[in-house]
Formats: sequence, structure tokens, C-alpha cells
Amino acid sequence: MKLLFSRLYREKLTIEKMIKLFCKFKHYSNGRICNECEKLLRYAIDRIEHCPYSVLKPVCNKCPIHCYKKEMRAKVIAVMRFSGPRMLRYHPILAMLHLVDKQKSVHKINNISKQQNKEPIQKLLR
Ligand SMILES: [Zn+2]
Repeated sequence: MKLLFSRLYREKLTIEKMIKLFCKFKHYSNGRICNECEKLLRYAIDRIEHCPYSVLKPVCNKCPIHCYKKEMRAKVIAVMRFSGPRMLRYHPILAMLHLVDKQKSVHKINNISKQQNKEPIQKLLR
């Protein structure tokens, strides 16, 4: 149920599955992810937890804020390119929910920026 109702939980679980899938195929890890991918996963989770949009967070590739450091951004893009198309096969429920999030989030973000003209969202960034 948490998977259905908690947007951030879903987001964290999705990135975890994507990084693990990437590591399994690219780094041939057995069950456990390698140190490099572990670092990327911790970083991604931290970014999600500090996202100024919080529960209204858009899916990352639609987010207007680029909160990743350059190096980490390049790594996560490689993960998404590889794991994205494979998610439907390995984690179909998460993949479907991600497609739903992709559709609805954009509207919500547009609403937020209209309501919060006084305080731009960028100001909330650390
Ligand atoms: Zn790895």
C-alpha cells in the first residue's frame, strides 16, 4: 500500500531497483551492489529526501531543478538509460506507477509555481 500512496517511497524504491539492475548487468555484482553503485544510490536517496518539491516531486527527467552534481548526474543518466527500458520486464509494477507519475506530476508543478510566485522554489534549495 505504501508503494501506491507514498510518492517519495516509490521514487526511492524505483531508483534503488534501477541502480541494482544496472550494477547486476554492468558490474556483474552478485546479489550485492558494488561500492560505486552503493555511493550513487545513497546520493540519489539523499537528493530525493531533500527535494524541495517533497511529495509533489516530479519524475527526475521532468524536474526543472538540476540538483545533482555533474559527476553524479552523468552516472545516474547512464543508469536510467540502461535500466529504464528494462524496468517493465524486471519490475513491472514500479514501471507502470512511474509512467503514471510522469503524467500527473507536470500539472501539479505548474500549479505550485503559479501559487508560489512570492517565493520561487529555487530559494528552498540548500
Ligand atoms: Zn555497480
